[in-house]
Amino acid sequence: VADGPIAKRIARVTPYFPFKGIPRFYDIGGFLKDPEAFALVIEVLANRYAAERIDSICGIDARGFVLGPPIALALKKPFFMLRKKGKMPNAATGAAYAKEYAGADALAIPRGAVKPGDRVLVIDDLVATGGTLCAAVDLVKAAGGLVVECACVVELKFLKARAAFDAKGFTDVPIWALMSED
Ligand code: IMP
Repeated sequence: VADGPIAKRIARVTPYFPFKGIPRFYDIGGFLKDPEAFALVIEVLANRYAAERIDSICGIDARGFVLGPPIALALKKPFFMLRKKGKMPNAATGAAYAKEYAGADALAIPRGAVKPGDRVLVIDDLVATGGTLCAAVDLVKAAGGLVVECACVVELKFLKARAAFDAKGFTDVPIWALMSED
């Protein structure tokens, strides 16, 4: 898929968005209006984890909310949201993390969503520096869970999320993406 003709239908590159310093913004919005490409993405992701023991699937605010639920339904597993802080009652907020573009943010996890020993699959649209995924892994681990994998549609490998994970001590947490740019 990553090298095939369908790749352009999955992630369109828009230059200089959201501001001039970002030469390549990947937009996965396009495949949502392309049912064939959307179904293929979900099928590839669901198949990847079909034989794994997974207790729940979480999606990261906001595009992880689009991708996570169909994967959870395909695998017949519970889904929960990791929302930006302040949006959800009865949630535990994690530490602030720096974003690729500017500023800081924090994610929150619903209390009770992860039980000790749960095996959790984390879904987002794109991994850049890995700051967002690290914040997600932190929250799942703090709740006593184990992250089976962080799965995305696009990985910008030149921003070295793997190194960020390793530096945080998350050497045991794999990052996987359907397509990537070196
Ligand atoms: P990171 O925390 O630096 O890995 O950035 C990943 C987060 O920022 C994800 O939640 C993405 O949705 C968003 N993001 C960063 N770069 C892009 C991009 O080029 N396209 C779409 N989303 C992006």
